[in-house]
Formats: sequence, C-alpha cells, structure tokens
Amino acid sequence: MSYRPKNSQSTRRLGQGGGQGSSQGGGYGGGRSFGGSAGRGASSNSFNHGRSRQKSGNKRGAYIHPSKFINKAVAVEETVYEATHTFKDFKFTDRLQRNIDFKGYEIPSAIQDQSIPITLQGHDLIGLANTGTGKTAAFLLPIIERLAKEPILRSAVVIAPTRELAQQIEEQFREFSYDMRLFSTLLVGGSNIDQQIRRLRRGPHIIIGTPGRMMDLMKRGELDLGNVKVLVLDEADRMLDMGFVNDIQTIVNKTPTDRQTLFFSATITPSIEKLAQSFLRDPKTVSVRTSDTSQSVDQDIVHATSKDHKLEVLANLLSQEGFDKVLLFGETKFGVQRLADHLDKTGFPAVAIHGNKSQSQRQRALKDFATNKVSIMVATDVAARGLDIPNVSHVINFDQPATYEDYVHRIGRTGRGGASGKALTFVDHR
Ligand code: AMP
Repeated sequence: MSYRPKNSQSTRRLGQGGGQGSSQGGGYGGGRSFGGSAGRGASSNSFNHGRSRQKSGNKRGAYIHPSKFINKAVAVEETVYEATHTFKDFKFTDRLQRNIDFKGYEIPSAIQDQSIPITLQGHDLIGLANTGTGKTAAFLLPIIERLAKEPILRSAVVIAPTRELAQQIEEQFREFSYDMRLFSTLLVGGSNIDQQIRRLRRGPHIIIGTPGRMMDLMKRGELDLGNVKVLVLDEADRMLDMGFVNDIQTIVNKTPTDRQTLFFSATITPSIEKLAQSFLRDPKTVSVRTSDTSQSVDQDIVHATSKDHKLEVLANLLSQEGFDKVLLFGETKFGVQRLADHLDKTGFPAVAIHGNKSQSQRQRALKDFATNKVSIMVATDVAARGLDIPNVSHVINFDQPATYEDYVHRIGRTGRGGASGKALTFVDHR
C-alpha cells in the first residue's frame, strides 16, 4: 500500500481541533473522509413514523431516528494531507528505516506526521484518531526506536480492546522490528494461556494484549509490569464501552508512574477525558479525528415487516449485482451465528465472527473474508471493531446498532481508502 503524494489540493479541513498542540488533517491518502452528518441529504419523507422506538435491533441503546441512517454519498473532492515530515526526518535506526521502506510506507500519515516527533521526545500523547489512519505505526515506530537503543525486557505494553486488533498490532510490530532481535508476546483470550506464560517467562520486549487476559495473567503472578517505560492504550473509548475501565485501571496501576503513556481514542467524551487525565502527565494532543460519518458512504434504510420478510429482503439484496463483499452486523453472538448459518443453508456462503468463537475460528473467518474466499461476513460490533478489511462493498445493519457511535464505526468499514461504499440499515415497518 503506498501513500498518495502531496500533489492534490487540500479542499476541506477534515479534522477537529483537539486541545493543546492539536492540528487538523484527514487520514493518509485523503480518500477516507468523514465530514458531515449522516442525516444530511436524508429524504425525511421516506420514513416518518419515528415516534416510538424501533422494534428491530437497538435494544441496548438509545433510539436512533431512521433519518440518521440515510445519506446520499457526496463526491468529496480529494483531500490529501500534506505531511510536514518524511520518515527519514525522524532519523530512525537504519534497520527500522529499512523495514519501513520494505513495508512500502513512503509518506507519514497525518497521525504519524504529527505524533511521532512528540512521542520521540518522550512526551505523553493523546491521539484522537480513527482506525485506518495509521495510528498503529504512529505508536509502534517510536517504541521500536526506543527498544533498538535500550532493549529492556517488558518495557513496552500495548493494551487494545479486541483480540483481532491486538493481533494486528503484534503483526505490525514483527514486520517493523524485523531482524532487530526484539521480541513480542501477544496476551489475548481464546488462545492457549500456558503458551503465553512460556513466552512471557522468556522475556519479551513488548507485551500486546487485551485487558481480560492481562488481568488473568497478573492474578497468576505471571505478568510483571514493573519495568514498563512506554504504555499504549489503543482505542481507549472502545475499552470503556466494553466495560474494561476497572481492568485497565488495575493494569495501569501496576506500571511505574514515570512511564510514557500514549493514549488513543476515536472519540473524546467526558469519561474519556477523565480516564486520560488520570493516566497522562502533561500530554500533547494530536487530532486527526474525522467527524461523524463518511460522506463517501451511500446510506439508506431498508424496510421489513417481519423477521421472515427481513430474511427475504436480505436474500434479494445479496443476489443483486455489486454486493461483492458484504459485512453484515447483528446484535447478539447467537443472532449472528444463526444468521450466518441461515445464509449458508440458503445458498449464500457466509462466515461469522463473534465472541463465542475461538481465536483460530475467528482468524480463519476473517482471512476467508479478507481474501474474498467468502463474500459475506456476519459480525457483532465487538468482533468487528478495529478491523482493517479492504474493499467492503456493503455494510448491512441487519440489526440496528445500539448507538449512533457504533453506527459510524460499522459503516466506516466500507468506503475506505477512497473507494465508494454503501450502507443499508434495516428498520421495522409495520
Ligand atoms: P491503522 O490505522 O494503523 O490500522 O493502519 C491502517 C492501514 O494503513 C494499515 O494497513 C497500515 O499498514 C496502513 N498504513 C499506515 N500508515 C501508512 C503509511 N504511512 N503509508 C502507507 N500505508 C500505511
């Protein structure tokens, strides 16, 4: 994947200021833009019985008016972030620079461009960035640079909300630290804990994990965080949503207070701010956050009168041309599995990812979908969080999301990297 050169004009400011030291800028490549609200352009007459709560989906959260699920994609002119640095400017160790080159990264993305100098100086950081903005490399590269100079065991820790995200981070770590004699351990649920303990005992330089498994290993006395110099909290807002706040607090309290802390979140709410304040010392903030909803995603609602009708309408949609790579969202693990089984049985091969699947099952499903072996994946919000799957043609919300925030996350899986995407949301219509 290569980075778009800075030859086109900036046409729109995408980012939102985020406090001290903040600046604006879209994701790299400029194609992904999230300007405007989903309600804009909504044909409000297409659905106007929004007084009561929807009967389908959205059982946990607040009522979302269906007009918020409608948006005519506007052709957003390319907005290309103009990086002020090249990777060479960061003066990374030769081997690291070669690994960056090998990965094909030519120009830093906005979050990389703005946060790497801050992180290299040792400051704490609040990075307001969505998935897909290149935030992983933004925190990994300075960590690897630091480890190259001082390869202290267990001195870097990354906490992420989901197994898949943690795994993607570890993969990137391995690629960027290739041939540097730096070792990582992945601590996530659903994988053999004894193996993780063995790897931990061997002494990795960096630990990447999810809160639940890390807590488990701490309770067993296997996870010593007394050496930690750099701590990363990735997708902190998601971790809060998922109820990990106490676990995170417990884990962070086991790290030395003189550590450097890098805190990433796509949103900044009062509870996020509170959490950030309790963990960070005099942080600098970089915001490349894109607003609400991708304007490049065509969004519409689909009416269905009953459960059976919904399945029928879905089958019709899936048979249509252009539904090449469809990510379907369901509310519960059980419902997601049932829907995938139903589709499978009715001639639409589908895979499912949700929390009741083992790690290896999830990985296989993800790989089959990512490599186009299977063109339909059904997922829960949690399982799909933070995934970087290219070329999703359609996101279909079979069940409505619990919150508008979740909606934005879901539809952000399509229309990536400048590709046009479509999102459809089922609503009850009686
Ligand atoms: P992330 O937001 O960290 O999940 O990154 C999203 C995707 O962009 C990943 O596939 C990265 O490998 C890729 N990426 C990140 N930074 C760059 C860059 N500077 N140049 C090209 N690709 C990048």
